[in-house]
Amino acid sequence: MRIGMVGVGYVGLVSGACFSEFGADVVCVDTDEAKIDKLRGGEIPIFEPGLEALVASNVAAGRLTFTTDLGDAVRGSDAVFIAVGTPSRRGDGHADLSYVYAAAEEIAGFLADDYTVVVTKSTVPVGTGREVASIIRRVNPDASFGVASNPEFLREGSAIDDFMRPDRVVIGVEEARAAEVLKALYRPLYLRETPAVITSLESAELIKYAANTFLATKITFINEIADLCEKVGADVQDIARGIGLDGRIGSKFLHAGPGYGGSCFPKDTLALMQTARKVGVPMRIVETVVAVNDARKGRMVDKITQACGGSVEGKTIAVLGLTFKPNTDDMRDSPSLEIVPGLCKGGATVRAFDPQGMGEAKELLNGVVWCDDAYSAMQGADCLAIVTEWNEFRALDFERAKALLAQPVLVDLRNIYRPEEMLEAGFQYYSIGRPVVNGAA
Ligand code: NAD
Repeated sequence: MRIGMVGVGYVGLVSGACFSEFGADVVCVDTDEAKIDKLRGGEIPIFEPGLEALVASNVAAGRLTFTTDLGDAVRGSDAVFIAVGTPSRRGDGHADLSYVYAAAEEIAGFLADDYTVVVTKSTVPVGTGREVASIIRRVNPDASFGVASNPEFLREGSAIDDFMRPDRVVIGVEEARAAEVLKALYRPLYLRETPAVITSLESAELIKYAANTFLATKITFINEIADLCEKVGADVQDIARGIGLDGRIGSKFLHAGPGYGGSCFPKDTLALMQTARKVGVPMRIVETVVAVNDARKGRMVDKITQACGGSVEGKTIAVLGLTFKPNTDDMRDSPSLEIVPGLCKGGATVRAFDPQGMGEAKELLNGVVWCDDAYSAMQGADCLAIVTEWNEFRALDFERAKALLAQPVLVDLRNIYRPEEMLEAGFQYYSIGRPVVNGAA
């Protein structure tokens, strides 16, 4: 089979590489010439574990190519996937569909008599698939095509494994013929008995938003339980374990922290909220989740401020981790983008380090002292704050850290250490939803 993948971002590049690994001939196209040049030169424009090797082997096998010429990706393809960005529209939180519609319009111009399925992989509000179909019909009334919605559930940091071993594949279609093309593409997964959920276009589109919003709600719920724990002397990790072992609840997404961020949850919760309002069914739970999560970043600034004795004025804070989660270089809507400026606004000097995110972070954060590693960030700092739980921060040398820090104060916004061990190690230790311990006293 031959497919075109429009957009080589986190989703398009991973999906394209994985489909080629399944044996399809994949032509990836992007309007960003710099990205395509890099890919042609064997360089991967994003950080995603395992992606470089996967791309290299499929390029070498002749199944994966990169171009800026959309015609190459569309002509003769059984399916063309739209995997472009759908960021929040400035001001109102609706999903910005301009990239999706522009791609649909351009694709339409290259469609011909051979039946092609135009598949939306981007996360798009209900109704977008039908709009894509009407755009194509308007631009090219003679085109032989079907439309499908095939939302993507991969997570940055484990994207390849998620794509290759998904919990399910969701396919929304209007006609059986389009479903057959997609089923053939995903055949290697059916052989592994991956469930396929075949639905209408509308249901497939909504499944993606419902899934992300549910997960964002679960995170926000445990974050509020953590706040309560801090007041009543309970331990949120015990609560998470105690409820997570209940099969009806499940243990995932019950890690209390600084609030969800990233390229999906913030914009998708907002977009669902706006869709629901637009059709007169406001979703109060989702609205509250969005508001609670927004406020949480400021609370993290307060937490660090409190650990510094009530003010960060003139203090130096070492910040470890800037990306919204480990194993990615993605900084989109990362909690650090509010926490770091909040600390600077309070008069602090921030010394920061992130293993992969600093290139992007330097474009987004001003007035930060950029450091080469975790220990150089700690040099002379009054407080050490762990904002992202990269593996390399999980086994810090406490003695070395204490020798570098001006004060042995650690604020662990990801609960990667245990209060008992930090007491033992001689730190004043603050975490999320667990008792404060003072081993420095
Ligand atoms: P991204 O911003 O990393 O990549 C989008 C790419 O599309 C860019 O390289 C851009 O240059 C390109 N592009 C835009 N218009 C184009 C056009 N007309 N022709 C060709 N290329 C074009 O975005 P992403 O993170 O890959 O997300 C893509 C979609 O997938 C979004 O809707 C997102 O919500 C969804 N999604 C993302 C993730 C994730 O973890 N990033 C997971 C699941 C779903």
